[in-house]
Amino acid sequence: MSFSRRDFLAASAVAFGTAAIGRPALARAWQQQAPAPTFTDIRRNVGFFTGRGGTIGYLVDANGIVVVDSQFPDSAKQCLEGLNQRSNSRPIDRLINTHHHGDHSAGNIAFKGSVQKVVAHENAAALIRSAAADTENLVPDSTFKDVWREEIGNEWVRAQYYGRAHTSGDAVITFERANVAHMGDLMFNSRVPVIDRANGALVGNWAKVLEAAAADHPGDTIFIFGHAGGGFPVTGSKTDLMFFRDYLTALIEHARAAVKAGQSKDQYVNSSLTLKGFDAFGVHNARTLGIVFDEASDG
Ligand SMILES: [Zn+2]
Repeated sequence: MSFSRRDFLAASAVAFGTAAIGRPALARAWQQQAPAPTFTDIRRNVGFFTGRGGTIGYLVDANGIVVVDSQFPDSAKQCLEGLNQRSNSRPIDRLINTHHHGDHSAGNIAFKGSVQKVVAHENAAALIRSAAADTENLVPDSTFKDVWREEIGNEWVRAQYYGRAHTSGDAVITFERANVAHMGDLMFNSRVPVIDRANGALVGNWAKVLEAAAADHPGDTIFIFGHAGGGFPVTGSKTDLMFFRDYLTALIEHARAAVKAGQSKDQYVNSSLTLKGFDAFGVHNARTLGIVFDEASDG
């Protein structure tokens, strides 16, 4: 039984799990949904780990270990095991959370006892602590308002807050000497982003945040992205940041125009919007459109 990717996607949407798909396709489905955990070096001992959830960044050099984000407990455990192999199980100096979402911070618990300090922006830290009231987690014990910076191993590591964007507490984590920056969920590469309005997201400001972050980094910085659409990479350049800024600007402008034209929220959320020039993002779901419509209605 032969299955193209297109067939698979169509079948999985309507009939996943039925006998019609068969075992080979199911095996492929598993591969697509949960890719094998992978460590990819970028430069100067900095790299990224992909497992399940937001991309993890890491520094492992002779005198320092830093981890950025932690995915979920199961993949965090795999990440920790791989880091231990690379470092002969030295303690991890810092775990930094880019923001509070579970696919970036629920795995903190796997680092309990292995990490000296957990760092996050004060807003993200408060949200991680509040989620930990329901599910046990390792919560940030070191917070900052604007910027945090420390020399760890042979590297200077900086966490910087640029304002409300994907949530109220997103930080950019920069490995200065390697010239690699983890953007967390400030970057969805060619994929409709999660916009956490309930926790302070602001699409209009998000575009400005990307601009400010890009301006703060040299031209050849390699950026790590929280997520990417199917087939798109989880690392890239300033050009990718500016493309996503343009997408966010187009999205909020579109909603503002609809509000101005007197369109109802009901009409808007059911419009199956695709944005001209941003085809790779695909069709926008009702939830996303409702959120941008609400922001546009705020003025
Ligand atoms: Zn997120």
